[in-house]
Amino acid sequence: MYTPKPETPQAEINTRHLKLNDSIHFQTNHRCEWVRELLNEVNAAREDEDHGAIIAENSFLEVDFTLNKKTSSEHPEYITIKGIIKTTFWTYCIRCLQHMPETLKIDLKACFVPEKFEHMAEYKDQITVYADNEEMDLYFYKQSLNLRDFLQEQISINIDPLPLHSESCMGLCQMCGHNLNEGSCAHLHSKIDSEDMSEGKRIQFRPTLH
Ligand SMILES: [Zn+2]
Ligand SMILES: [Zn+2]
Repeated sequence: MYTPKPETPQAEINTRHLKLNDSIHFQTNHRCEWVRELLNEVNAAREDEDHGAIIAENSFLEVDFTLNKKTSSEHPEYITIKGIIKTTFWTYCIRCLQHMPETLKIDLKACFVPEKFEHMAEYKDQITVYADNEEMDLYFYKQSLNLRDFLQEQISINIDPLPLHSESCMGLCQMCGHNLNEGSCAHLHSKIDSEDMSEGKRIQFRPTLH
């Protein structure tokens, strides 16, 4: 069976070029300029010159998804994106400020509805929508669908806001800044309450459905 080669998507997809029932497989990665920009943004440590080379070598961002333009009785026209983002980027440990890589694998399940429906009661204050027999993240599109903004948001809501290089990281001395993972300093320390920290770690920024 003939399987077409995946296409490289633009940062903005012109939806007028899509036909109803179109199904397109897209693949791209940070060798593509706009994806590389996205990766640079998530590489929180990118401005550190000493680590610049390490960051460039050891970080990546890959996107693989299928886009479908469809119609249904409830939605005269909508676009779904289903696929995956894989990325490894650099961040800081919140306790000891050490650079560390973080790896994310994000399932994409999004339904884009034409913008003219955005203010309808049905969609107001909604962040998900039921389409194709499953719950999907709700987005809107104009004539173009901003893929870059969509991927950026998907990454930002999945990033660990409180990364730790190790669950047992001892952090820095509040008095002298010494890295306590490398041994103690002259100051007295109470142990970091790991339960408090792990609770903080579970904070979700994503709003929940009602
Ligand atoms: Zn640490
Ligand atoms: Zn100290």
